[in-house]
Amino acid sequence: MQTTQSMLSVDNQHKKVFGPTKVPDRLLLGPGPSNSDPQVLNAISLNPVGHLDPFYIALMGEVQELLRYAWQTNNRLTLPMSGTGSAAMEATMANIIEPGDTVLVGIKGYFGNRLADMADRYRANVQTVEKEWGEAFTLEEIENALIKYRPSLFAIVHAETSTGVCQPMDGIGDLCRKYNCLLLLDTVTSLGGVPLFLDSWKVDLAYSCSQKGLSCPPGLGPFTMNERAEAKLAERKGKVPNWYLDVSLLNKYWGSDRVYHHTAPVNMNFGIREALRLLAEEGLQNSWDRHKNNAQELWSGLENLGLKMHVPIELRLPTLTTVSIPPDVDGKAFTLHLLNNFGVEIGGGLGSLAGKVWRIGLMGYNSRTENVEKVLSLFKSELPKFRN
Ligand SMILES: *Cc1c(COP(=O)(O)O)cnc(C)c1O
Repeated sequence: MQTTQSMLSVDNQHKKVFGPTKVPDRLLLGPGPSNSDPQVLNAISLNPVGHLDPFYIALMGEVQELLRYAWQTNNRLTLPMSGTGSAAMEATMANIIEPGDTVLVGIKGYFGNRLADMADRYRANVQTVEKEWGEAFTLEEIENALIKYRPSLFAIVHAETSTGVCQPMDGIGDLCRKYNCLLLLDTVTSLGGVPLFLDSWKVDLAYSCSQKGLSCPPGLGPFTMNERAEAKLAERKGKVPNWYLDVSLLNKYWGSDRVYHHTAPVNMNFGIREALRLLAEEGLQNSWDRHKNNAQELWSGLENLGLKMHVPIELRLPTLTTVSIPPDVDGKAFTLHLLNNFGVEIGGGLGSLAGKVWRIGLMGYNSRTENVEKVLSLFKSELPKFRN
């Protein structure tokens, strides 16, 4: 017997009667997401408008301008990708790499490996230069690798969230120009919290996310490229092999043509506009200073408790601190205890640092004295219970 549509009835096996969505109070002091600024959450909760509404189009321009400020760049092609930081990361690769291009990746942590994986998927000839997790590259090491591999793109992470290292940038851009290669910088854990001067540093492509230093929920991935990178894109023989992330299509929407590409997540853009507006209101230098001061309070407080930081002070990131887990402590049990009993999230180690470090984030809205005091008092009162 054939079933006709009129004979079908609803199968209720997956119908569950849940209460309205509620979320426990959490203080997010891990590697991200960080807590959102309440003003950003207010902006996100507004009613959506059409993605071609003149009001929204004006708002898009404001987001682009504020991103240029946050990154210290004049790049025309600056926009938030609809997706998290990894989508913007992938956008840099998808647009710039042509099959067979030599891409050099500086790997000193987990996210360097992700860059290499992505470049490989876009069929680059991927070469790597590596450092221990907790160290940064010297200019000499980078220059030697540029001479050896002659890449058309050098990709490196500024703020390595897996290790807590901030890569010093002086001179890297000049080296890339000297050896005629583009410089791609991951600024996911630095934007808003750590000094960034994209144009002065001669960075050709960069990306970030909304949920770390910008105090906005996850969902957008700021992206920027300069004229050198645009020229490489314009010379492509084939299409960008990723329709969603194709910057030339996206720029027909974000640029003056306003051609529909995909329905923009308008509420997320309300949120990032508010987040960037608050950053500009505070001022970049003030925000960088605040992150630095709070991180220094955290470091000295933890050291006073007898703990050791994984990274030497001159390379330490203000937004993300890696703390060595004492050998007699079960690090994971301690972080679970903080989450379950105090609603405080701190992170564990990734990759080769798994089980060896805790990762404490003080990013954006969360970089404040009371949070430093809270985490220090918890380490003081609770950690002794976990020592064997
Ligand atoms: C978080 C992070 C990413 C990935 O961003 P998502 O928003 O998680 O996709 C990339 N690079 C670094 C350095 C990060 O910390």
